[in-house]
Amino acid sequence: MTMSETTESNLPTVLAIDDSELIHRLLRARLHNERVQLHTAISSREGLEIARSLKPDVILLDLDMPEMDGFKVIERLKEDPTTQDIAVIFVSASNDMANRVRGLDLGAVDFIAKPFDVVELKARLRSALRVQHLIKILAQKAQIDGASGLWNRTYFDQRLAAEISEANRYNKPLSLTIIDLDGFKSTNDQFGHLFGDLVIERFSNILNSGRTSDVACRYGGEEFSVILPQTTATEAREVAERWRNQLANTTWHDHSGLMLTASFGVCDLECLDFPRTPAKLVAAADQAMYNAKKCGRNRVDVFSPTLIRK
Ligand SMILES: [Mg+2]
Repeated sequence: MTMSETTESNLPTVLAIDDSELIHRLLRARLHNERVQLHTAISSREGLEIARSLKPDVILLDLDMPEMDGFKVIERLKEDPTTQDIAVIFVSASNDMANRVRGLDLGAVDFIAKPFDVVELKARLRSALRVQHLIKILAQKAQIDGASGLWNRTYFDQRLAAEISEANRYNKPLSLTIIDLDGFKSTNDQFGHLFGDLVIERFSNILNSGRTSDVACRYGGEEFSVILPQTTATEAREVAERWRNQLANTTWHDHSGLMLTASFGVCDLECLDFPRTPAKLVAAADQAMYNAKKCGRNRVDVFSPTLIRK
């Protein structure tokens, strides 16, 4: 049975796997005031199941259990990609050095002796949670584009696929905007790359300052894309018009009178024939963006199937 001490879903989760009910009760009492969500499992088998579905931040793993001991459990956890990154702290009544070394070699982050010293238990748990938190931040950083602070292409591809499958499943609207800065190469040539970087940064801020549900990515060089969940093409066009205006009205220090612009292509999922795939949505928004370029730049064009035939 899974036992949750609190319903706050944003708290870090801890799973205790121990064949003793007494230990479960003890942990619940000891960790009552800690900002963690505690779950418990009474056997190795149940522990592995819960670990896979819950993906807790930390597992407190009893070494001495019937059927499958803690060493076997951690081996299973480390073999499985869905559970291999969970921090495991061994809990054991024995203080045997060989066991400790073996546990650490198998990938445990720490070892706690039973009976618990409550101060030590909390300190070791907090330390493991802190490391897990940092690992999460690092993993997230790998998905962010350094120059713009927006999501990168890798993240964009994953996110677009996820948003499209959700929109398809629940029949919700979804739009995509692809944006290309106008004449960016000549801006770079004329004013230098440092200024080019500043333009990327300022425009990224404009894209990022909009609605929190929108997902802004740097698609490549001077190309950007924004995923707009629950948004029709008509609404997406209004949003893009605001971005277009903000950029065109930006004043550039040291280059007074300079006006920089971008061309926007918008497409919503509705316009596509089935099956509605990420590749089709990107191609259609791209088509609309090229149309905006062709028709004089600094404008927002919405994809329609007749565009292709032109
Ligand atoms: Mg035991």
